[in-house]
Amino acid sequence: MSELLQRARRVGAEVAARHAAAVDAEARFPHEAFAALKAEKLLGVMVPAEFGGAGASIPEVLALCHALGQSCASTAMIFAMHQIQVACIVRHGQQSAWHRALLQRLAGEQMLLASATSEAGVGGDVRSSVCAVEVEGERFSLSKNATVISYGADADGILATARRTPESPASDQVIVVVLKDGYRLEQTSTWDTLGMRGTCSNGYWLHAEGDARQILPLPYADISAQTMLPTSHLTWSSLWLGIATDAVSRARAFVRAEARRKAGTVPAGALRLAEAVNLLQLMRSNVVAAARQYEAALGSAERLTALSFAVAMNNLKTGTSQMAVQVVNHALLICGIAGYRNDSDFSVCRHLRDAHSAALMVNNDRILANTANLLLVLKDDPGLFP
Ligand SMILES: Cc1cc2nc3c(=O)[nH]c(=O)nc-3n(C[C@H](O)[C@H](O)[C@H](O)COP(=O)(O)OP(=O)(O)OC[C@H]3O[C@@H](n4cnc5c(N)ncnc54)[C@H](O)[C@@H]3O)c2cc1C
Repeated sequence: MSELLQRARRVGAEVAARHAAAVDAEARFPHEAFAALKAEKLLGVMVPAEFGGAGASIPEVLALCHALGQSCASTAMIFAMHQIQVACIVRHGQQSAWHRALLQRLAGEQMLLASATSEAGVGGDVRSSVCAVEVEGERFSLSKNATVISYGADADGILATARRTPESPASDQVIVVVLKDGYRLEQTSTWDTLGMRGTCSNGYWLHAEGDARQILPLPYADISAQTMLPTSHLTWSSLWLGIATDAVSRARAFVRAEARRKAGTVPAGALRLAEAVNLLQLMRSNVVAAARQYEAALGSAERLTALSFAVAMNNLKTGTSQMAVQVVNHALLICGIAGYRNDSDFSVCRHLRDAHSAALMVNNDRILANTANLLLVLKDDPGLFP
């Protein structure tokens, strides 16, 4: 096991898991877990070593999301969303002096970055913006009616999408990195939800200004296809797998306890447990295969923007988001009332509620509609290995 993973597992087991129930019940930011993640220098893991980070690869980051997902899904989701933003800066900001300096701060100060893509008027259609960046001389200003900014109140910076200019069409977007001393948040909604309650994903009006160099030079369409979309689907899927893994481990403990109680018999839940483990293996295979596909495509804009790559990443998201709920459901059936209770060691209530967010976090119907369009022109691939 890598040293990074050991550190994440320690934070997960000793801190995040201990506070997970309170974070969920109070719908509050997981302060304890993030203090520990910062102390372990895990927020800047993806920053290259030359800027003071650990230069972690995507599979290493996925393993951390997976480990945290087994302890507190809200902590894992915040960690994942932050790493997605860092990945965008690492991969698309290094040619700009402003972003290079930010990379150093991300590693040194363990800053936490949030994301503002969703917007009133376009909903979850992240490839359209209503708001626009206004540049005057060397300065920019931006106001965005962001319907959801997870942990907005606790972040040190936000990556916001917007139209390139007030004259640009909705799809001509850029990403602006805005920092806490350069923005003001006016809260417009609260976050009292079924699950993922600790992400504190309130709505805000974001009013920002700063240096025009804070705008990432590459169009958002390219950043999205090459980095934001694949890293989102990979990190999210890894932590959803983490939720499912912990639910199955509770179900396994339940079945073993039953076996001990009634020695010589096969507990009723054993068969369903075998099925749950089978589904978990499929989920894991999906994540690992997609991670390898992403690693193989890195560095090739052509492979990252291929239709087949987009379909594979879409399928990863829609598939794992549904399987997470299915696997936790199996765990619930195995544990029965003990799984349905909030106050039992075998409880999978929070797992089930958190897992249900997966299909909405960029709505699966929206993603399936996109895949359906791509399939109209994508050539069949009859091969087994890519
Ligand atoms: C835990 C969590 C954290 C989040 N954090 C953030 C964050 O930090 N920053 C951020 O910007 N966003 C965040 N989001 C928002 C998220 O990424 C989506 O934008 C949001 O969930 C979409 O909301 P929606 O389903 O109501 O809207 P839409 O995607 O607009 O969907 C509305 C309805 O229309 C249907 N629909 C819409 N378009 C289509 C289509 N093309 N084809 C078929 N059906 C369609 C859907 O079925 C759905 O019922 C978060 C969401 C969750 C659950």
